[in-house]
Amino acid sequence: MQDQFGRRIHYLRVSVTDRCDFRCTYCLPRSHRDFETPDAWLKPQELARVVAAFTGLGVNHVRLTGGEPLVRPELTEIVQRINELPGIEDLSLSTNASRLGTFARDLKAAGVTRLNISLDSLDAATFKQLTGGDLARVMAGIDAARDAGFAPIKINMVAMRGLNDHEANAMVDFCLSKGLTLRFIEAMPVGAGGQRAQDHYMPLAEIEQRLRDRFTLTPTAMHGSGPARYFQIDDSELRVGFITPQSQHFCDTCNRVRLSVNGDLYLCLGQENKVALGEMLRGGASDSELQAAILAGIARKPQRHDFLDAPTAILRPMSALGG
Ligand code: SAM
Ligand code: SF4
Repeated sequence: MQDQFGRRIHYLRVSVTDRCDFRCTYCLPRSHRDFETPDAWLKPQELARVVAAFTGLGVNHVRLTGGEPLVRPELTEIVQRINELPGIEDLSLSTNASRLGTFARDLKAAGVTRLNISLDSLDAATFKQLTGGDLARVMAGIDAARDAGFAPIKINMVAMRGLNDHEANAMVDFCLSKGLTLRFIEAMPVGAGGQRAQDHYMPLAEIEQRLRDRFTLTPTAMHGSGPARYFQIDDSELRVGFITPQSQHFCDTCNRVRLSVNGDLYLCLGQENKVALGEMLRGGASDSELQAAILAGIARKPQRHDFLDAPTAILRPMSALGG
């Protein structure tokens, strides 16, 4: 699939739930109530049918995300069904790791190939304040993922001025000691948490400079690197990536679209354009009708997000689409 700007679209991010056991302030504030009702969630077999429509059009990488994907009871079945589809080369998962202690092995066995784990602080009190979660459980989840044989495991840290930016160096040391890849992410002004994200927004050039004061950073490539710019740290195994949606947007190389838990296809994280594939499916659409609707959607994929011109214009929380 190619859009009107010549971008090849082969990556689908699938939100398997809009619920979460955490309340990261920049993503899903405690005041949020507007969740999809369970009858609207695509069932595993419905989801597999929609994903099959995409793989039939050339999508080869699927990432399961949320909300927190591990709170969806049928997650293992969803992984199995998608893993069985012809054309899938890469089936990855984004998680806050709080439940990986229980599910890491099952998910590996079901076919998840790679894991991204969110970790915004190494201090239990700060972590609680930022996410509402329990750092010890997350650490146990990270160890369970390593024990289950996931590699590489990428740690995602949203850098926020005055909240956790002072931990950047400590996070490098942690990832070095555990054999993890580290990615810093700029906060994006999306949803009810968007204003808070914007209040603490920090351009990653500042973090990069802090690391350069301590290490030699050598540009390097990584599999599935997407929008991240990666560096090798000194001559170690550690790779550090920077994802800069605000200071240096990467829309020219965008290769992805996103599916919400009720089957709405969103063409850009920072725009509202969507195609109601779930509704079509439940209305009896055939596979070729679904594919025609997908292609028509891709043809009007927006050129870029508007985070700079219209910060906080997007009202859905980040947890609806999974970043
Ligand atoms: N619950 C899973 C997790 O936390 O990894 C998956 C969903 S979460 C929405 C996916 C990613 O989006 C996380 O790395 C999270 O830090 C990031 N994210 C959420 N809100 C964000 C925001 N306003 N700006 C930048 N990144 C955000
Ligand atoms: Fe939940 Fe992930 Fe959003 Fe945090 S970033 S509230 S863990 S969905």
